[in-house]
Amino acid sequence: MFVGRHALEASLFQRNGRRKQTQTGDWVLILVNAAPLVLLVGFCLFVMSRMRKGFTRFENSGSPLLRTGIGYDLHRLEYGRKLVVGGIELPFDKGPVGHSDGDVLAHAICDALLGAAGLGDIGTHFPDTDAKWAGANSLRFLEYTRKLLDEKHLTIQYVDAVVITEKPKLGPHFPKMREVLAGALGIPIDHIHLKAKTNEGVDAVGHGEAIAAHVVATLSER
Ligand code: MG
Repeated sequence: MFVGRHALEASLFQRNGRRKQTQTGDWVLILVNAAPLVLLVGFCLFVMSRMRKGFTRFENSGSPLLRTGIGYDLHRLEYGRKLVVGGIELPFDKGPVGHSDGDVLAHAICDALLGAAGLGDIGTHFPDTDAKWAGANSLRFLEYTRKLLDEKHLTIQYVDAVVITEKPKLGPHFPKMREVLAGALGIPIDHIHLKAKTNEGVDAVGHGEAIAAHVVATLSER
């Protein structure tokens, strides 16, 4: 009887041991099989997290937000008036009719910059009904516009312009114009580009009765 009890206990012990071994083996088997899946899920989560960080970094990369503005101006030309274009006086027998010095290029630049800044146009800030601007040097308009942009934390990145007139030839004067305009705007000279066109003898500009300018300006926020 005594022996039989011991044998039974031994048998139960062995059976429990085997069961424990079997249970441990099952868990090991499950973990071994699940490991690739766990690794795969972990890898995917890691990649998604890196991508999210990447997108956030791209959004906040510090790249300046750019703004573009367009400017246009035209002045009639009459005999006996000074021809001022791009801040310099050119030898010619006609000049623009205007309240200020009638610098068509400076005015178009002004409008392009103010447009890019969302600050209205040249007439908003320098109305031709104001006697104080009579005969004014238009470079003052550019300097004032530069101040307005500074207050809005805007930097002039680039100014590209086309001046359209039949005569005189403007190309030879561009280096000096660029220097003067860049000085008024406080930008490097290579941030301003000028081009000249004729109007092929067509319309008022082509007949030498007017001079016009188109300008595109790019600003960045800082
Ligand atoms: Mg004008």
